[in-house]
Amino acid sequence: MINIHRIGLTFTIVYYKIRYCINVIIQEQPSGGMRENMGKLIEIKDMSKIYNPGENEVKALDHVNLRIDTGEYVTIIGHSGSGKSTLMNMLGCLDVPTSGRYFLCGADVSEMTDDELSDIRNLEIGFIFQGFNLIQSLTAVENVELPLIYRGIGKRERHRLAVESLEKVGLSHRMDHKPSQMSGGQQQRVAIARAIAAAPPVILADEPTGNLDSSSTEEIIGILRSLHEDGRTVIIITHDNDIAEKADRVICIKDGKIVDDYMNADRQKEG
Ligand code: ADP
Ligand code: MG
Repeated sequence: MINIHRIGLTFTIVYYKIRYCINVIIQEQPSGGMRENMGKLIEIKDMSKIYNPGENEVKALDHVNLRIDTGEYVTIIGHSGSGKSTLMNMLGCLDVPTSGRYFLCGADVSEMTDDELSDIRNLEIGFIFQGFNLIQSLTAVENVELPLIYRGIGKRERHRLAVESLEKVGLSHRMDHKPSQMSGGQQQRVAIARAIAAAPPVILADEPTGNLDSSSTEEIIGILRSLHEDGRTVIIITHDNDIAEKADRVICIKDGKIVDDYMNADRQKEG
């Protein structure tokens, strides 16, 4: 019997691959028009995540419903332990929920094979973490080049993309420095360059400024906003109200539940 879902899924993956090739070859960013046409990017339906089911279980996500559209600039805010990283792991297809559904560009993530999931993580999403996760023995440019190897990009092209992406985050003068020779803010800029080198349309950042002072925080948030202005969907997870205030949309999470979801512009109008 023909499985309609699987055909849809295969089509989606092929679409991602073609779009990725176009992005890399002609360095095209998703345009505003494209964004409007694409609409729904993420749809989470009644999702729960329970760690250690049984007596000591922790309900990290509790029946979450969420929709994020292509091109949005969203922060997910909550106190420590509220479930932010768990939600980020779900959004980034890094973990699987205990129950509920996750649709990415209309495709059901639970029906994807490991290869399909790894394609999505590689081609669609640029990850940025609080701890930078740079390899200490490699220079800035080598750190940015590294994930491009897994995308099957040749050596010269890898280098070109890495240099270009470090230039975008203002680090052309630090290409050959190792992480230990850079400040925290500079290291996070290298991590951003690594996340954007292959032009993924979605950026997922988990507490990207958690280890930074206030001036580096402003710098990093400025870069993330400019990525959004280039047409990317940017999702920042944070516990910092100042960061949330600068986003377009704020989603508040508490005890694994979404307790508020608003546009900053609407709140300001309401005074
Ligand atoms: P946040 O990122 O908002 O600090 P997390 O998503 O990391 O929150 O955690 C939400 C809850 O789930 C917390 O109570 C945390 O202790 C628990 N938790 C997170 N990861 C695990 C895990 N791998 N095993 C057990 N409990 C976990
Ligand atoms: Mg966390």
